[in-house]
Amino acid sequence: MSEEKTEGQKLTEKLGFKIKSAWETASPADLDDIEKFSTRYKDFLNAGKTEREITLQIDSILSKLGFIDAKIAFSKETPLLPGDKIYQNIRGKALNFAIIGKKPVTEGAAILGAHLDSPRIDIKTNPLYEDSDAAFFDTHYYGGIKKYQWTTVPLALHGVIFDSSGNKQNICIGEDENDPVFVITDLLPHLSQEQAEKKMSKAITGEDLDILVGSRPFYDEKAEAKVKLNILRILNKKYGVTESCFASAEIEAVPAQKARDVGFDRSMIGAYGHDDKCCAFASLEAALHFANRGSAPERTVICSFTDKEETGSSGNTSAESRSFEDFITGITAKTSGSYDSFKTHLALNNSFMISSDVNAAFDPAFASVFDKKTCSYCGKGIAISKYTGHGGKYGCSDASAEYVQKIIKIFNAEKVRWQYGNMGKVDIGGGGTIASQFARLGIEVIDCGVPVLSMHSPFEVISKIDLWTAYKGYLAFLKHI
Ligand code: MN
Ligand code: MN
Repeated sequence: MSEEKTEGQKLTEKLGFKIKSAWETASPADLDDIEKFSTRYKDFLNAGKTEREITLQIDSILSKLGFIDAKIAFSKETPLLPGDKIYQNIRGKALNFAIIGKKPVTEGAAILGAHLDSPRIDIKTNPLYEDSDAAFFDTHYYGGIKKYQWTTVPLALHGVIFDSSGNKQNICIGEDENDPVFVITDLLPHLSQEQAEKKMSKAITGEDLDILVGSRPFYDEKAEAKVKLNILRILNKKYGVTESCFASAEIEAVPAQKARDVGFDRSMIGAYGHDDKCCAFASLEAALHFANRGSAPERTVICSFTDKEETGSSGNTSAESRSFEDFITGITAKTSGSYDSFKTHLALNNSFMISSDVNAAFDPAFASVFDKKTCSYCGKGIAISKYTGHGGKYGCSDASAEYVQKIIKIFNAEKVRWQYGNMGKVDIGGGGTIASQFARLGIEVIDCGVPVLSMHSPFEVISKIDLWTAYKGYLAFLKHI
């Protein structure tokens, strides 16, 4: 027999708000969905670790679904009609796509934006050197990493290099079981007394992050730097490159392991690059809901997948570039009949966006940096960040009360389990997303995404239910905003 609730208990239920684990309300059908969604996500991750590979993957998904290249669509005489699908591949590293809605785009689009780049170790422009009968690649890390985490981790090399005849060669070494891998070495504990006394940020420096790539000499009495020479010989044979070809190459070292389930209960996924490919995947799946259905969405649905977020969103493939404005200008012109900058501004100012980026998940091992009342947790659903930034909210895009309320109302109506998403304690640190670049265009924007443990490490962890809930949240947003 259940006891009668006290007045205080009843009042707490009525007035308070307690966020419980999202697993508690998941139905057996949901659990099945979550598992299937996670499997597709792991495949998506394993097939593309870099912005180039992910862009290529999304490009091919869209082409198969009948999306038309925007260059062609924008140059044709024929208008874009509700249900039409277009995409724009931006220099092979970023991508926008749209499904034209029934309402005029000047009344605003529903936009999801995520970034495709992740922190990693880039190979320098003149990387190969030999020291003490070993050959190394000199590197320059990309994005915010804790450098010590990247030593003694099997690494794969991905990217492009032009051979000496000027032909582009795609590089992907270390992902196949039979491929060799590469590694940044670290000092044995026995001789680490001095290193252990250093500040964590100084124990391994940027210049220490050199990748071991070989140790066998080319046999010749008179030749110099024989190990390096042998590596050059191998690279020349396989890719037709010589030493100077690295001057233009873009080669990224990323962890060689695949995405794996984590935990006895398999409730989590561990992988390189969840930030921000988990939100990119959830956004893609949510938007493609309208491409598959065969009927047009109310508002024009747009996904913007950007590059260079991890280095501050500058550059011509980043959120800061004009490519998004150009894309929406094209859509506005082709749906309204004429190029008119006023219409473009109307479209931008009336648009709504979720910046779908990850959040820092509470970690009990480092509890002191979090505000437990406002931070996000693994397993409690999609995290809503009203604002990001650091210190006194510097550099943030702060979503208005009106807009946050709108989003929460949609999530509640669609039973999307949401939680707060403030990054950490005030004055501890902070971060930004692409939200500010889109806010600058006059778009109403808010960050909503998946909480991540060990963010920016070689093996980040997310909860399967948060990934799926993010997808549900993005879908609800696209349907009802
Ligand atoms: Mn991110
Ligand atoms: Mn990041």
